[in-house]
Amino acid sequence: METQASVPSQAPKDFIREIIDEDLQSHTHQGIVVRFPPEPNGYLHIGHAKSICLNFGLAQEYNGRCHLRFDDTNPAKEELEYVESIQQDVKWLGFDWNGHLFFASDYFEKLYDFATELIEKGLAYVDSLSPDEMKSYRGTLTEPGKNSPYRDRSVAENLDLFKRMKEGEFPDGAHVLRAKIDMASPNLNLRDPALYRIKRTHHHRTGDAWCLYPMYDYTHPISDALEGITHSICTLEFEDHRPLYDWVLKNISIHCHPQQIEFARLNLTHTVMSKRKLLELVTSGAVTGWDDPRMPTLAGMRRRGYTPAGIRNFCAAIGVTKANGVVEYGLLEHFIREDLNRTAERRMVVLKPLKVIIENYPEGQTEELRADNNPEDPTTGERSISFGREIYIEHDDFREEAPKKWFRLSPGKEVRLKHAYYVTCREVIKDASGEVVELRCTYDPESRGGTTDKRPVKGTLHWVNAQHAIPVTVRNYGPLLRDAQAGSEMVSALNPESLEVMTGCLAEPSLASAAPGQHYQFLRMGYYSVDSDSRPDALVFNRTATLKDAWARLEKRDAQNPS
Ligand code: ATP
Ligand code: MG
Repeated sequence: METQASVPSQAPKDFIREIIDEDLQSHTHQGIVVRFPPEPNGYLHIGHAKSICLNFGLAQEYNGRCHLRFDDTNPAKEELEYVESIQQDVKWLGFDWNGHLFFASDYFEKLYDFATELIEKGLAYVDSLSPDEMKSYRGTLTEPGKNSPYRDRSVAENLDLFKRMKEGEFPDGAHVLRAKIDMASPNLNLRDPALYRIKRTHHHRTGDAWCLYPMYDYTHPISDALEGITHSICTLEFEDHRPLYDWVLKNISIHCHPQQIEFARLNLTHTVMSKRKLLELVTSGAVTGWDDPRMPTLAGMRRRGYTPAGIRNFCAAIGVTKANGVVEYGLLEHFIREDLNRTAERRMVVLKPLKVIIENYPEGQTEELRADNNPEDPTTGERSISFGREIYIEHDDFREEAPKKWFRLSPGKEVRLKHAYYVTCREVIKDASGEVVELRCTYDPESRGGTTDKRPVKGTLHWVNAQHAIPVTVRNYGPLLRDAQAGSEMVSALNPESLEVMTGCLAEPSLASAAPGQHYQFLRMGYYSVDSDSRPDALVFNRTATLKDAWARLEKRDAQNPS
């Protein structure tokens, strides 16, 4: 019998993959070499994840290479802590540079030599205008710039000055080396851009060996070429810098000329992505650090319980385009939830406990019941949970005056306790202030396991056995920003309800050994993971995501009350 072979449905290729396919078909390249080039001036965020998934993903798909290169040319803002965190985060996301780790600072010597070559060719000069003068000579978008009076210095004078700049003879800012291109160019990046500046700052790798540092636009193309990069993929704001990228490589003696390709950066609602703003949040103490679970950093997301697979799936889903836009935060959460639904074990935790005494259950008796760890994954097996006369349920699962469609507990009503029994509420006990403090219930011994459906019940509640439950702390997170977009004033845009700490929650004892980073679904309450602050005698859980899309409601609220 013939069976129809199913053709795997091919996802439509994005424009970058189309360019690569063409380059390989036309033998422009035999294989691809790409790179991820972070500046070590902060922790990586979810925007970087998009770039990491793209570049390392391409290397995997095309059997090529992806380099990890630190663009460390601005020592004032760069630190070893960031170099380390970036490597950790790339690995955590599931990628490997396979030994291809580079630092732009390793090329300082070569970059200097190429600059000398440009001077010798009459294509670079030392300028001695003050920064303010340089600005006024630069012109505007509508007016051409003016040539600097130093533009026609002789090659010999330029070589001499540049050498003395390197040797530390001049104070910071006294001179810069500039490319000699065209002060009237409609592209401002081509109006004799600076290539080098004098800056006495300690560098985390080269120490005090240099007081002369190359600019990003000069360093980047040469670093790419030195590493044999074929496709240099960056974000859209570099489109106007591409002519300079090409100018640099065309005018020095180097035999590799990578193709710069730009794509749209990722923006997400309800958060910020600029490292400057993220640093501000950290230094002002608005968050506890780069790894605060509310931060859009990979360190924060890891601590919050987001999974690498969930983030990768999100990045694959949003794809790569040329159009800038803003993605709803809820979409990211959707992919996290989808991954956790498959992988997170289920546990019962009562966040706001309400005591329940089961009057017809024998005093002093406990029994063990079976509970599946994850119905989505039978290989995770079962665990045992204990049931007894005194249990706790969620306070919010009881209403004395129940509305019409209330399927949870109320006086006289019967519900199922998950994995246990049917119980009926017989009596409500209140304290002096009228607050409900305890319920008296009866159970049906025939309903063991909560599955013998003699009578249908609509509500199923989670619970814990009072005798064995352990106390835990739970941290629930809301969006970092109140509104979808931050205004110019970061701090006033922060959501004051972004963190809710709940103490005195009660968990089933199997969670006592939960280690930091482990993921769970607390039945009916959400996805939670063990915080890095958690200790066996003081367990702390972070809410990773709600069970359902809470963002949809938020977006609706925003639409109704535009700020
Ligand atoms: P920031 O604006 O947060 O400071 P950056 O672009 O200056 O970001 P880099 O360290 O230079 O930060 O970024 C490394 C790589 O990650 C670059 O190739 C950059 O284009 C890419 N990248 C940064 N932010 C995003 C984003 N939001 N979406 C997609 N790619 C990004
Ligand atoms: Mg950058």
